[in-house]
Amino acid sequence: MTSLCQKGYCFAGGNEIKFSEECGVFGGISYKYPIAPYIQQGLFMLQHRGQESAGICVGERNPFIYKNKGLVMEVLSDRVISKIRGRMGISHVRYSTQGGSDTTHAQPYVVTYLGEKVAVAHNGNVKAAVEMRKNLEKQGEVFITTADTEMILKKVIRELRKAPSKWTFEEVGKVLTENFTGGAWSILFFVPGKIFAYRDPMGYRPLSMCESIDGVFVSSEDTSFQMLEGKSVYHIQPGEGVEISRDGFEVKRFAEEMPSKKCVFEHIYFARPDSNVFGKNVYSSRVELGRKCALENPIDADIVIPVMDSGFAPAIGFSQQSGIPLQMGLMRNRWVGRTFILPEQQMRSTGVRRKLTPIKEVLNNKRVVVIDDSIVRGTTSREIVRLLKESGAKEVHFRSASPKIVNTCHWGVDIPTKKELIANKYDDTCGIRDFIEADSIAYLSIDGLKDIFGRDGWCYSCLLADCEKPENENSTKCAKLSESVC
Ligand code: SF4
Repeated sequence: MTSLCQKGYCFAGGNEIKFSEECGVFGGISYKYPIAPYIQQGLFMLQHRGQESAGICVGERNPFIYKNKGLVMEVLSDRVISKIRGRMGISHVRYSTQGGSDTTHAQPYVVTYLGEKVAVAHNGNVKAAVEMRKNLEKQGEVFITTADTEMILKKVIRELRKAPSKWTFEEVGKVLTENFTGGAWSILFFVPGKIFAYRDPMGYRPLSMCESIDGVFVSSEDTSFQMLEGKSVYHIQPGEGVEISRDGFEVKRFAEEMPSKKCVFEHIYFARPDSNVFGKNVYSSRVELGRKCALENPIDADIVIPVMDSGFAPAIGFSQQSGIPLQMGLMRNRWVGRTFILPEQQMRSTGVRRKLTPIKEVLNNKRVVVIDDSIVRGTTSREIVRLLKESGAKEVHFRSASPKIVNTCHWGVDIPTKKELIANKYDDTCGIRDFIEADSIAYLSIDGLKDIFGRDGWCYSCLLADCEKPENENSTKCAKLSESVC
């Protein structure tokens, strides 16, 4: 498995990428005009979900496919888009959490089956992919990429070959459910004359659809629909999908309801604040996270400052709750190169300083509470603390608007290895405080997080240590791990 962030440290168009998002999908049918400009705009709104590559598949029976490494507006430039005809298509932005990161791995993946083209665009990760791929290889299947998405496509084709029926929404949904339940897949299929969209039965990743006067569209996040007029948005439920054709669209259930596992990090970090994910506005969630963090971890300080951008909404909440004024103590440099990988520790530090500039007039002689959405390796947090102190801050108190991250993710989010996570390097929170050189540190508690989102229906897996499983919950190590303040 290749992962840029495992190789080094990366920044992308917006935030520092502490752990990587796992892709975004957009597709649909436009009623009157070529769909390519709709796709360009819809996919552009998902840029934060993947910056490695972008791709488009547009047409009806013999679609035009174009994909490459780069950002949406670089790959799908106005020049490219103006040449693409056709009113039906799917598209994808990618960050590799599984499989390689070269152009071959850019999606949509397309194959020709019985003389017609079939394409797929996938957001998520399928845990069983490695084993299943080995089995398929033993049966003579060949693969061009190392990604689970190609494996899904090939498996679907193999299964449908056995059936007399062809590409129906129900048949594809059945193959997906029977083979990939337990994995995360918000996935679009382009088949001759139709688009099928599916959200896995546990609903790890979001998927929304929109009917408007311009057409019918599906997207990883509903913020993609902002440019559409006369719209009605529906959030596709776990185990549901939508079939779209020139004749119209139909939302259908293809799998039984299961206990859902919505990824809580969609709200903490990944999704855009202007999106509504799993029925909840992301900005509002983040403000709540900040408020709760302030309630749990009161502190006497002069100013609250956010680590821009994903720490901004939690900092607003922290400030509202604590009454400590919110200030802009760190300026984010928006014009830093879009993506770069800095392999050495020395260069990582430089990366933080290229990205964030202190405003000394705000910080000088102040007791500062700095709010970030989460702490992953701790190296960025330490660099921020150093930067603030060098800029005159009298005290720096670090607050994380999420609990400690202690586990990796098997559902498509590129969290570093367990041993790289700062929460696993120290037995107690004071060790983390000392490492990042702050005067105090505090995390939102896991109970606090669950108070906001609910006990059930969410995936909290990367925030729960093995010792927090019911059989181990009294272990001393666990008690120390779950301490959230020092
Ligand atoms: S393990 Fe964490 S990042 Fe992965 S799906 Fe669950 S909550 Fe999301």
